[in-house]
Amino acid sequence: MIGSVILIVGSLFYSISLMTVFFRKDKVKSVENKIFSILIVVNFLGLMIELLNYYSVLNMNSYPLYNLVISKLYLVYLLTWILIFTVYIFIISFSKEDKIHYDISTNIRKVMNFVTISYWIIIVLLIFLPISFVNTAGQIYSYGPSIDLVYLVSIICIIISIVSLIANLKNIRSKKYLPLFFLLTFGTVIMLLQKYNPSLLLITSMETFVTFLMYFTIENPDLKLIHELKLAREQAVRANEAKSEFLSNMSHEIRTPLNSIVGFSQVLLEENLPEHTQDEIQDILIASNNLLEIVNGILDISKIEAGKLEIVNTEYHPRQIFDEVVSLTKVRIGNKFLAFHFHLAADMPPILYGDSMRLKQIMVNLLTNSVKYTKDGSIELQMSSVIQDDICRLIISVKDTGIGIKPENIQKLFTKFERFDVEKNVTIEGTGLGLAITKKLVELMHGRIVVQSTYGEGSCFTVAIDQKIIPITEERKVAQEKLISADQKPFVAKGKKVLLVDDNRINLKVAARLLLNYEVETVCLSSGAECLTRINNGEQYDLILLDDMMPGMSGVETLKSLKKIPGFMIPTVVLTANAITGMKEKYLQDGFDDYLSKPIDRAELDRVLRKFL
Ligand code: ADP
Repeated sequence: MIGSVILIVGSLFYSISLMTVFFRKDKVKSVENKIFSILIVVNFLGLMIELLNYYSVLNMNSYPLYNLVISKLYLVYLLTWILIFTVYIFIISFSKEDKIHYDISTNIRKVMNFVTISYWIIIVLLIFLPISFVNTAGQIYSYGPSIDLVYLVSIICIIISIVSLIANLKNIRSKKYLPLFFLLTFGTVIMLLQKYNPSLLLITSMETFVTFLMYFTIENPDLKLIHELKLAREQAVRANEAKSEFLSNMSHEIRTPLNSIVGFSQVLLEENLPEHTQDEIQDILIASNNLLEIVNGILDISKIEAGKLEIVNTEYHPRQIFDEVVSLTKVRIGNKFLAFHFHLAADMPPILYGDSMRLKQIMVNLLTNSVKYTKDGSIELQMSSVIQDDICRLIISVKDTGIGIKPENIQKLFTKFERFDVEKNVTIEGTGLGLAITKKLVELMHGRIVVQSTYGEGSCFTVAIDQKIIPITEERKVAQEKLISADQKPFVAKGKKVLLVDDNRINLKVAARLLLNYEVETVCLSSGAECLTRINNGEQYDLILLDDMMPGMSGVETLKSLKKIPGFMIPTVVLTANAITGMKEKYLQDGFDDYLSKPIDRAELDRVLRKFL
């Protein structure tokens, strides 16, 4: 008996501590927390009643009414606790959880109403059913129909709890599920012990212990922590914005000098220079293009990670993309002893709908790697199509007889900054970004990429991407033929006047030099304000190439002011080193007619001039 009292007093101590901790803490308003707070208060009251019960048991024969009331109150407590516990398990099992809150559906509400009515019926029954007391040497306990009713309801509750838990294993996080099962088993064992040794006073203490353990299974996020996390998230977002801005600036800063290097090298190559000088210039061009690729790679991966890389779908000619990729690869191979085989399927639809720039980037990345990692032998590019209804599955494979990839590295191939065989490849430039970007691009286009490789023998990368087929009408056919025949002729626009606006003197020189080949008349200005004055004075041009990032008045601001001049109709193309992904779309939205990035790509310049002159 004394042992039981110590147990009860100890439990009281735990119960009070638990209530203090639980109620003082900031909590989220969840059903789970609400039920738990009722449960611990009920448990505390139960322990008090049990202490009084103990007193009544000791003075069994002195106060019969007091004994009766306390015993019945204690039974009411036991019933209430087990019912609340069952409701708790039922709710966490059947409710849809959204991490913190449990959303109670109307069905569950109906069940709850039923439980409340049943509860009151059972309580009334409990009060009216008889109870008897035994007081023999060393054995003091109660028995009778009201006690049996409590056992019966408890067993039903435990069965309901177990069934709810098993039926909804998926709903209950693993963390919660195991302790609950343990608690139910433990509770059943204690109940059986109590049933066969009625003089033991174990149940309430067991319930205190269960409540105590439940405290640790309750998903109770720390509000302070949530606040700190929110702050940390805001900081991360800000840091990410700063990173994007830094990248955009860095891109601009690196591209500006590169523009001069690439531009002048291109121009110099056309001069009649001694062969070795030409070779050296070619090397400058290759190195500059490598640097440009690295900058682009870093910008792309950061855009992809920020979720800002968008797929821009337009109509395009797969043959044109294929030809461009082939000629780029030929340039890359240069004087390496590599055979280059390429094949475009004859049944390839002439016009597809998709992001041709990104498709080209994917192909170029794979081919660049093949050229980089193949010393001798061959490289093979295949582009075929599988057509179903209006969808063409493009299948692009790039095969090489290069160094190959070890099986253990294949898994890591698409992870950014991963490079293999670094000792062997010290002389090969790379950042380990190409394939990571390629994979992301393929995924953004809902395609797939697979690799087969034998170390020491070669690799084969295959990409499959679905693209919509655009049916060709007669008009389109004629327009396309015109375009192709125009493309093949060298383009000159004698008599046309182009206005170049850039604050950087060298950039102006490069652009003017590149325009020389087109035999246009070029006027160079170094600020937006000057450009505005000239146009305001009524000077006429056929095209304006306008830098954006200029001190004083930016290109965008200049364009806005230009558009306000009555009768202003001159096509204006932004010429910018700010070439991060998405910039083109932004500039077009700002009202520019087209976009040219620095370093100026010859083919792009050609395209723009053909379009506007
Ligand atoms: P980078 O070429 O800039 O290092 P990538 O992401 O394009 O980065 O490629 C990652 C690594 O995968 C390369 O460093 C190289 O070790 C390996 N790899 C890629 N393509 C090939 C290939 N065709 N043959 C052999 N190894 C390759």
